[in-house]
Amino acid sequence: MAGSTTGIQNVVIVGSGPAGWTAAIYCARANLNPLVVEGAITEENRMKGTLPLGQLNLTTEIENFPGFPAGKLREYLSTALPEDRQPFWILDKGNQPAHGLTGPELMELMRQQAINFGARILTDDVTKVNFTGKPFHLETLENGPIQAHTVIIATGARANWLGLPSEERFKNNGVSACAVCDGALPRFRNKALVVVGGGDSAVEEASYLTKFAAKVYLVHRRDKLRASKIMEKRALENPKIEMCWNSAVDEVLGTDADGVTGVRLMSTTGAPPREVAVSGMFLGIGHTPNTDFLKGVLELDDKGYIVWKKMMRTNTSVDGVFAAGDVADNNYRQAITAAGSGCMAALDAERWLAAEGIH
Ligand code: NAP
Repeated sequence: MAGSTTGIQNVVIVGSGPAGWTAAIYCARANLNPLVVEGAITEENRMKGTLPLGQLNLTTEIENFPGFPAGKLREYLSTALPEDRQPFWILDKGNQPAHGLTGPELMELMRQQAINFGARILTDDVTKVNFTGKPFHLETLENGPIQAHTVIIATGARANWLGLPSEERFKNNGVSACAVCDGALPRFRNKALVVVGGGDSAVEEASYLTKFAAKVYLVHRRDKLRASKIMEKRALENPKIEMCWNSAVDEVLGTDADGVTGVRLMSTTGAPPREVAVSGMFLGIGHTPNTDFLKGVLELDDKGYIVWKKMMRTNTSVDGVFAAGDVADNNYRQAITAAGSGCMAALDAERWLAAEGIH
């Protein structure tokens, strides 16, 4: 879908995860006629995990987004979404079991909700920005330059992956980078699982997974965790967690029918490799914020996340530019917190436009 990019936009929202769509819904309802640059559908974005609709579009069931308990959503989705955006199983009219909302469905519904209120969408990437003067200038991959009075950055973050071909093969079939999103799925319940990483995320994922799993192997490439002491203590004292020190996953084992059935661990200190039978592998090796195009333009922290310059406000280091969602959050990283900060950014942008006498 192409929104008109001529003239000066009141607000351009860059990114199309829960933060971007929530900002779009609020801006559209405030009559700001927002333009959402949702990302381009390119092979490069697919490989990086940065296609439109963000990280949620790469997950399965969403059980923790308030308002969507498991149930029969098929009929609702088939009337709420245009046919060309409906999940394939609605169109197939296959005999699917009742289930809760999936990540891709939630994102399609948010997108549609924004469209229903008049948000315009450009399926393109912002490649470069110039925020030194007003109006702001944004360059796109395919649709030329855009000018804007305010900008909301909601480009999210992407999970880091090991980069193994076998890991890629089993994504959504036993390999996940989000224990909170996927850990409670039936395929992982009462099974042995592996978590990779040694920071707070990995330790938290391992501890969380012990609620459902029979056993969790925590694979770390060194002999000392990076995680905070309290998290470390919790993991080391958990009888369901077994540490695999000085180890790295070398290959994910499995079949297309069964998904993951094990991992091969290489020693980082020269011990012989070994195979561990598990039904799932979770990555906890950090995230990378999608801020490459903002380096030297906005203040970023040492990991590349956008810095909010005012307490509990979405203001960035440039007056009139706001940030929402995971791109400015290295701590919570949940769909609901991203949506919440998307709402905050829309209200901040609306008030900024009013204070400037623009709208
Ligand atoms: P992190 O602190 O950067 O830790 C990443 C971990 O992954 C490190 O242990 C690192 O190993 C390992 N790793 C990185 N690349 C790897 C690779 N290619 N192969 C194998 N292992 C690899 O990231 P994080 O755990 O996501 O935490 C990010 C921030 O969020 C931190 O500030 C953390 O405190 C915070 N956080 C807080 C909580 C909480 O308080 N509840 C929960 C989650 C996150 P090395 O140690 O050898 O470098």
